[in-house]
Amino acid sequence: MDIYDKYNLKHVINADGKMTILGVSKVSDEVVAAQKLGAQNFFEIADLAIQTGKYLAKLVGSEDALVVNSASAGIAETIAGIIGQGSQYHVHNPYTDRIAKREVILPMGHDVDYGVPVDVMLDVAGADTVLAGYANMCTPEHIEEQITEETAAVLYIKSHHTVQKSMLTIPEAIEVAHRNDLPLILDAAAEEDLLKYIKMGADVVIYSGAKAIEGPASGVIFGKTKYIKWARMQGAGIGRAMKIGKENIIGLTTAITKYLEDGPETGDDMIERLEPFVEKLSEVPDMDVKIVQDGAGRQIYRADVTPTGKLTAAEICDKLRHGEIAIYAREYRVNEGIIEFDIRAVNESEMDQIVARLKEIVEGD
Ligand SMILES: *Cc1c(COP(=O)(O)O)cnc(C)c1O
Repeated sequence: MDIYDKYNLKHVINADGKMTILGVSKVSDEVVAAQKLGAQNFFEIADLAIQTGKYLAKLVGSEDALVVNSASAGIAETIAGIIGQGSQYHVHNPYTDRIAKREVILPMGHDVDYGVPVDVMLDVAGADTVLAGYANMCTPEHIEEQITEETAAVLYIKSHHTVQKSMLTIPEAIEVAHRNDLPLILDAAAEEDLLKYIKMGADVVIYSGAKAIEGPASGVIFGKTKYIKWARMQGAGIGRAMKIGKENIIGLTTAITKYLEDGPETGDDMIERLEPFVEKLSEVPDMDVKIVQDGAGRQIYRADVTPTGKLTAAEICDKLRHGEIAIYAREYRVNEGIIEFDIRAVNESEMDQIVARLKEIVEGD
């Protein structure tokens, strides 16, 4: 009996991309081996956090780093740390009235729900969220208008979830924050470049461990010594509810090392893996199939399938999801009659299973 049968779970093929609802990504054997090593040995945990942080900081060129249990925890612990400014009293009384400087400025178009509304994490941190600008625009002046004596930080969310149009750039956000003696905190949870934003001068940059990095469920924050130290202190306060295990600290550290060596899969490699898949998809009746680059111009290529038979794209996606194996295609464009297959987390045998299931569906199950 395998674990799928034992716990009455469905096998899943994730041709949707990096989706939290499906478990985000698969980790490599090398990372699993590191997790095993972490799980089966003891460490002085305080030292483990400090030494892995030092090691990771050196890899990306930041002053310090801290492995946390998710990007969300990274946001909460970083902001809580900035509100507390190293006060032990604050660590034990995170929502105390003794501290008034709790405002965090967020562009209105960045007030998104990435699975959780960003401002829930700010609530956990004890921040008062102050939105800047409007639903469709935010300039450096809009940020500046909102700065008061009680402003603790400016938060910027770099993500496809946010409003992109008429939005101040990251360097502009850094400039306006620094001109007002405020730190600029950057949530770059799903971004691929681990070096760029630190180099730009962001004070803390937060990544999710299981997205681009393909590590275990975890997160990492890179940044200036002071802010990382304050965030680390939260481990004795709100951070205790966000504790990460030693296996995932070692696992993520290994995943980051490997990711910086290998980088994400290149567009050319993706196309090479897509070609045989697309050829097989073309043999399924009533399908127009081609390889298409990501709409936002990222180095991601997908198989683009337009059904021409009696079933619509939406109906086919529904059947794919509800078969014996749950196949999740990317459904962003089903309204246009297009099914996309994102193969970043799909291997060759899974591609064959997708083709077989599509054949079954168009031939009437
Ligand atoms: C995924 C995501 C997060 C949360 O990451 P977790 O590690 O799952 O907490 C935060 N911000 C953005 C923009 C994200 O895309």
